[in-house]
Amino acid sequence: MAEEKGSPTDSNTFATMASENMPDGQYDTYIEQMRKEQYPMLTDAVYLDHAGTTPYSKRLMDRFHQDMMSNLFGNPHSASPSSQRSTQEIENVRIELLRFFRADPEHFDLVFTANATAAIKLVMEAFREQETGFWYGYHADAHTSLVGVRESAKGHSCFESDEEVDRWIAKGAAGYDRDDLRLFAYPAQSNMNGRRLPLEWCQRLRHINSHCRTYTLLDAAAYASTSPLDLNDLQAAPDFTVVSLYKIFGFPDLGALIVRKDTAALFQRRRYFGGGTVEMVACVKEQWHARKSGALHEQLEDGTLPVHSIVALKSVLQTHEELFGTLDRVSRHTACLAKQLYNGLAVLKHGNGKLACTIYKHPASDYSITTTQGPIIAFNLRDGKGHWVSNTEVEKLASIKNIHLRTGGVCNPGGIARVLDLAPWEMRENFSAGHRCSGENDILNGKPTGIIRVSLGAMSTRSDVDEFVNFVDDFFVDKSAPSTSPPSSLYVGTEQGFHVESLTVYPIKSCAGWQVPYGTPWEIRNEGLAWDREWCIVHQGTGKALSQKQHPRMALMRPTLDFKAGLLRINSPGPDQPVSVPLSNDPNYFDAVDYTHRNTAVCGDRIEARVYTSPAIADYLTKALGVPCTLARFPAASASFPSVRHSKAHLQHRTRVQNVPRPILLSNESPILTITRSSLNALNSQIKAHGGKAAHASVFRANIVLAEFFSPGQEQPWAEDSWQSMRVGGADGPVLEFLGGCRRCQMVCIDQVSGVKDQEPFVTLAKTRRFGGRVLFGVHTALFSGGGVARVGVGDVVETCAREDNV
Ligand SMILES: *Cc1c(COP(=O)(O)O)cnc(C)c1O
Repeated sequence: MAEEKGSPTDSNTFATMASENMPDGQYDTYIEQMRKEQYPMLTDAVYLDHAGTTPYSKRLMDRFHQDMMSNLFGNPHSASPSSQRSTQEIENVRIELLRFFRADPEHFDLVFTANATAAIKLVMEAFREQETGFWYGYHADAHTSLVGVRESAKGHSCFESDEEVDRWIAKGAAGYDRDDLRLFAYPAQSNMNGRRLPLEWCQRLRHINSHCRTYTLLDAAAYASTSPLDLNDLQAAPDFTVVSLYKIFGFPDLGALIVRKDTAALFQRRRYFGGGTVEMVACVKEQWHARKSGALHEQLEDGTLPVHSIVALKSVLQTHEELFGTLDRVSRHTACLAKQLYNGLAVLKHGNGKLACTIYKHPASDYSITTTQGPIIAFNLRDGKGHWVSNTEVEKLASIKNIHLRTGGVCNPGGIARVLDLAPWEMRENFSAGHRCSGENDILNGKPTGIIRVSLGAMSTRSDVDEFVNFVDDFFVDKSAPSTSPPSSLYVGTEQGFHVESLTVYPIKSCAGWQVPYGTPWEIRNEGLAWDREWCIVHQGTGKALSQKQHPRMALMRPTLDFKAGLLRINSPGPDQPVSVPLSNDPNYFDAVDYTHRNTAVCGDRIEARVYTSPAIADYLTKALGVPCTLARFPAASASFPSVRHSKAHLQHRTRVQNVPRPILLSNESPILTITRSSLNALNSQIKAHGGKAAHASVFRANIVLAEFFSPGQEQPWAEDSWQSMRVGGADGPVLEFLGGCRRCQMVCIDQVSGVKDQEPFVTLAKTRRFGGRVLFGVHTALFSGGGVARVGVGDVVETCAREDNV
């Protein structure tokens, strides 16, 4: 279709295409075509986080580039031609943008800010400076950034429903003084579930203003991205409107405050001034200054404006219209898709007839009516037994399929509390149980602590919707028997038959493993195998331990334990000479390297580690991984250095004997990880049956690999699911206890030899080994009893003992 109109690089190619009257299906086909060329970063991706930010087009970048290359832009407000050019362009764009929102420049001013939050803060600061103080009311659907305003108010109230707002407005100024100052804020669209709130509240509150000063602050950051924001009617327009321009256009990273000029007096008490907002300042001998007294934006835009970003808006407005037509057309397109998505998800049912998706739609909203609903869907998933599926699990699978969505609290505390029915005490409890925004533990007390949010944007298409619905159907809808039994069942009988095939320690967390040689009895400590995860690589800025999940190249870093030389050597694939550090922990013994104590974070736990200060080590690792980082050590517990990390509480559900938290070093969850060759073989035959690439044992990063003595055909895959403990090395050997299945993520898809990511084995695991929303492979293991120093060696005989509750 697009080809008929000329060469695709011709800037008019699509101009006539994005026509307002195009029927929905045709418009969708057009977007699909246009997107291939204009949004190359979306190739193979299903991007469903437009409410977070939307992508920018190639044409916009080309145009901006062209503008930057052909013009000289100076710092505004001086006499040079380059400065004059900037000043003029900024003032032109300001007016253009006001017109885009149909705000009459006669009555409105537009203040450029870093984002919508900064715009909200400008309003808050003005109210905070008023002599009378102010009262603040906000709707429960508000974004966190609106909620925060309450901390500066002398009184505040959160309206939990629309009816509450209606009643409050109907009461008018009754009970208030003429001097009382009130600010009412709400989102035009919830950033959580896309529900659109009544815009007429602003108009109704305006009538009260003459009796008691009541102002309105409309947060249009979510709304304006897929809907025309129309401030044309002066009676109906809010006093303050905030937007995030990057959410509408994808670029530049700017926000704006659109303010009615008749509120100017409120800003007069502003105390701060800076370059840009002051005419003249004296500070030697005498202290006085003259503020800028012109337009509101001159009084509020401190410092040098983001000149180039603002200039980019010129290209932005032109390109957006060419590619998409008006925002009204965008609104109809996204509404159509949202309805299709909602209908698609709402009907997904498990084999037993139970619904898979619990969708959090506001009762008053309707996906067919754009005044009540924007293109966002908030939901959670339940499995065939009705249990909540962990959102972390959904994210992991989505990211493997290159689907981009958002989970968690999505910065909407009121909305989340309402749809998840979380009482304040539950939120506090979740908080103290370690749940913060987007944590691992996302189901507490049988309730989800966050939601899944998918949001559509101007360049979304039907194919995105179809792919997402298919994804949910494929991975989360259980078509088979109504109830699946827990991991167990296949194995009944023989308690013997396994031996230790290999032992691996991972001296540096997330880096390659080091194989324990045959004939070397290896010490097992409470924290795990000796030398396992004593070191980690930390980011030099944040102090956080790096993980292979974000840095797949860590798989290629090979630490080796050289006991003869007493060194840990680190080898990376590059040409550089390997670096090494002493194995000994005793600084008197080896003083070649120094370290400092520093707070770091490992898997969300704050710990104090010893961070090496040697520039040679930092340089080596930084070069190898491409992020500023260095080595840190977390030595095994001793009298002077007690272990502070413990295996995660949720592992204990299977432990019959002891319910004590176990100390760990830097491993993710438990001291030792065990897998069996038989289960790996079973998994690989399933993968191969679908034409996938078999997984190597190393991707599971186990410490102990067990294999069966017997020949194939007698294999017992998944036997470990039903084990409670094992004894290694015969009657006098140590007993190890199994703590439960190991939850897997997409990290198992990183090939440990090449560092390259694949979809397998996670996709097959997710389909065949999911229990209660968790994808399990391998078992967490800990030392139970040893009597003296416990040791394990390659080739040791293993006797297992089944769980009592095993059926
Ligand atoms: C994104 C968003 C904000 C915050 O915008 P920033 O640009 O990140 O400051 C506020 N409110 C709503 C409704 C939003 O969607």
